[in-house]
Amino acid sequence: MTKGKLYVISGPSGAGKGTICKRILQEDGNIRFSVSMTTRAPREGEKDRVDYYFVTREEFEKLLSEGGLLEHNKYVNNYYGTPRRQVVQWLEEGHDVILEIDYHGAFQIRETYPEAVLVFILPPSVEELRERILGRGSETRETLERRLEEAMNDLAQADKYDYRVVNEDVDAAVKEVQQIMKSERNKEA
Ligand code: 5GP
Repeated sequence: MTKGKLYVISGPSGAGKGTICKRILQEDGNIRFSVSMTTRAPREGEKDRVDYYFVTREEFEKLLSEGGLLEHNKYVNNYYGTPRRQVVQWLEEGHDVILEIDYHGAFQIRETYPEAVLVFILPPSVEELRERILGRGSETRETLERRLEEAMNDLAQADKYDYRVVNEDVDAAVKEVQQIMKSERNKEA
């Protein structure tokens, strides 16, 4: 059986990558999404095991020390990581798998899986990004500022990715990512 392909989707928080990923998964039942593990507290409406595996720092560090994470990073005082087992299993079963992770994780994945395809989602403009991040009322002022800072660092990494997609219009951005996935699949054939 052909193995699945691994896709990494990154972009500053507020660029709309979550929405794009959800749409891609809805439209192709064969693609799998890796639920990350984090020590950050859930935001309103977020569900454990759906949005993230919400864990304590001890639980995170335990899995990390056992080699159970494919990659990980610390972001604004919290750990984030990709549990290894499920991803490896899906790939072996032939499913394409999407990781929605930041650039630190993306470059770790590129080391482990050089054939992984890295896609960066860009906001239409920096002003738009600021507004989207500040519009997230759930954060404290300090966290918002850290997140804005991180977003600017993220943008600087875009040119190291295999593909860049500007999210001006969600429908168009979804189509563009689907097109990338299709052409990557055809490369294999
Ligand atoms: P948020 O707290 O907004 O959900 O996520 C913060 C940042 O962490 C985002 O850039 C998100 O893509 C990234 N992130 C989420 N899960 C993972 C993961 O498993 N690994 C890494 N390296 N980054 C992650």
